Amino acid sequence: MAVLTTGMPRTGPAIPAYVPQGNECRLFETAWTRRLPLLLKGPTGCGKTRFVSHMAARLGLPLVTVSCHDDLTAADLTGRFLLKGGDTVWVDGPLAQSVRNGGICYLDEIVEARKDVAVVLHPLTDDRRILPLERTGETLEAPSTFMLVASYNPGYQNILKALKPSTKQRFVMIEFDFLPRGQEIAIVAAESGLDEARVAPLVDLARKLRALKGQDIEEGVSTRLLVYCACLMGSGMPAREAVLAALIEPLTDEPDVKAALTEIASAVI
Ligand code: ADP
Repeated sequence: MAVLTTGMPRTGPAIPAYVPQGNECRLFETAWTRRLPLLLKGPTGCGKTRFVSHMAARLGLPLVTVSCHDDLTAADLTGRFLLKGGDTVWVDGPLAQSVRNGGICYLDEIVEARKDVAVVLHPLTDDRRILPLERTGETLEAPSTFMLVASYNPGYQNILKALKPSTKQRFVMIEFDFLPRGQEIAIVAAESGLDEARVAPLVDLARKLRALKGQDIEEGVSTRLLVYCACLMGSGMPAREAVLAALIEPLTDEPDVKAALTEIASAVI
């Protein structure tokens, strides 16, 4: 399980750069103040994770990030008994740790996790704000600084993996999408160091490819991939090679589709 713990006090290292899409910063702060859990939905690579780390740093809160996957169980989040030097000791999982210590626990791609995860989240996402640890008999009460944030990509869902309404309806939800052209150009330029004039055609190409989503490709080009492409170009890779490696290969394994996407790209780059 990939777990990342970061603590960024208000006066500490720089706050990760984040360009808002709308009122999400205010919504986040208000949800945090009122102890409401938050669910972020949107395509991969559109800024959800960056948003959470930005807000955690802004609010001076520690952040525990769990990347959910299809083997992730409730016990992975809450904790388990482990053998240590002949003794059996309880070791908190990342969610239990975050509830004990306060701060933000971010469950990235929550739909990927096993079904039993929803069960442990339910008492934590209503006014009880508790996390019962069945195996130890302990019930953790979330401190006022604790906030649960989760994300999912509605595009990936199939019937087996859809987030249940009973879970969805426990969160305040914010929808994310890719930024408008001008803002995306500015972000990719800032993140990669490539100048805006060279980034602009990449963003235009990404917007064209995104329009094909659902036809030949499952997902459109993410802002993340645009940043990668601009980094390759900034380090001297020819544009066509960078585009192929960062914007086209990750989208498809089908030779026909790849050829069609390459043709679209060569008209733009
Ligand atoms: P997600 O969590 O939605 O998959 P990320 O937050 O990891 O996506 O975003 C991918 C990258 O795109 C970030 O690391 C950052 O470089 C860039 N990015 C996307 N949206 C923004 C934004 N609004 N402000 C700043 N950077 C952004």
